[in-house]
Amino acid sequence: MNKDEILHWLNPDTDPAPLLALADRVRREHVGGAVHLRGLVEFSNYCRRSCRYCGIRAGNAKIRRYRLTPGEILACARAAAGLGYGTVVLQSGEDPAWGPRELAALTERIKKETALAVTLSTGEHSREDYRMLRAAGADRFLLRFETSDRRLFGELKPDSDYDARFRCLAWLREAGFQVGSGVMAGLPGQTPESMADDILLFERLGLDMVGIGPFIANPDTPMGGAGNGKLDLALRMTALARIVTRNAHIPATTAMGSIDPQGRQKALRCGANVLMPNISPAEHRVDYSLYPGKICTGEAPEQCAGCVDAMLKSLGRERAAGHGHSLKVQISPARPAGCSPKAPVGEGAPPVRAGEPRNGSRVWGTGEYPAGRASGRS
Ligand code: SAH
Repeated sequence: MNKDEILHWLNPDTDPAPLLALADRVRREHVGGAVHLRGLVEFSNYCRRSCRYCGIRAGNAKIRRYRLTPGEILACARAAAGLGYGTVVLQSGEDPAWGPRELAALTERIKKETALAVTLSTGEHSREDYRMLRAAGADRFLLRFETSDRRLFGELKPDSDYDARFRCLAWLREAGFQVGSGVMAGLPGQTPESMADDILLFERLGLDMVGIGPFIANPDTPMGGAGNGKLDLALRMTALARIVTRNAHIPATTAMGSIDPQGRQKALRCGANVLMPNISPAEHRVDYSLYPGKICTGEAPEQCAGCVDAMLKSLGRERAAGHGHSLKVQISPARPAGCSPKAPVGEGAPPVRAGEPRNGSRVWGTGEYPAGRASGRS
């Protein structure tokens, strides 16, 4: 899909129904009906950064800070395994007390004591530290680039660097992680052009996972007065991400469920194939307040498991078995013909052969990252 087509589908005046239907079909053909469950542990809300949208930013004195101990996190991981999840996702602010060494030791313990896949989402680290975390057994890493718009990125993340963030993504790839990234949709000042560039970047980066959530204004941040992103936009982005990446793992995100009670169900019907039920200890959930109105803050892990099973049943979908590793290793380099809502996907596609090189559209090697905004390709 080229940039003009993407812009057409991002336009709120375009009826999204054909786009969402195509994304659902691409999802069925390339990743199937099963939904992967990843148990999410939000293990520390300490953060050294000052991202202007985020409730756990260093300057927010209104939240109660907490960090879990290795023993507490391990207990969460065991609970995730007990609930039948294939993956535990460990997410936090950039907490100096939970540095790469501590994370590596924890990862080793989880890998030794459970059969879970481990995903980390702990922000920016050095090249050596990513290598160490991978060597410790971590399978995947989530690091959203948040927006492809360099100027907007600088405004949102005053103490971060656009190029450094993309360099981290290249280092993660080099270290052998399955790499996830993504963006917020509906940020103040975010243009349709930059969102089309976001979509094109998902494809160019050959991401294994893509996470998209609506921006939700947090009153305890400098962006508290801004309007929320719309679910409609986040769903269009999800559908486009599915169509361009074909077989990336794409979650129906918590932020979608937080701005609309049916948000995650709607996402699962237009491309999403992953859910990330919260398994953090109940007493701390409310303090991991990235944005207000976050769902599942009052529930125990078992309640979230029951809730996602009911959701899957209502959608006629089932839980996926296994770890839910990346499907990119099985993708053939060529793209299928007719990958647009006007023409059905899959017709004329070369057969998928396991063991072939990873996604041929992946263009960044080590040390390479976009010099500026991604240029639109048509
Ligand atoms: N420290 C980690 C994890 C950040 S929190 C990192 O830097 O990657 C995980 C994600 O929550 C962020 O990447 C961001 O996209 C999302 N997020 C934070 N604040 C938000 C808000 N106000 N509305 C919607 N999403 C938000």
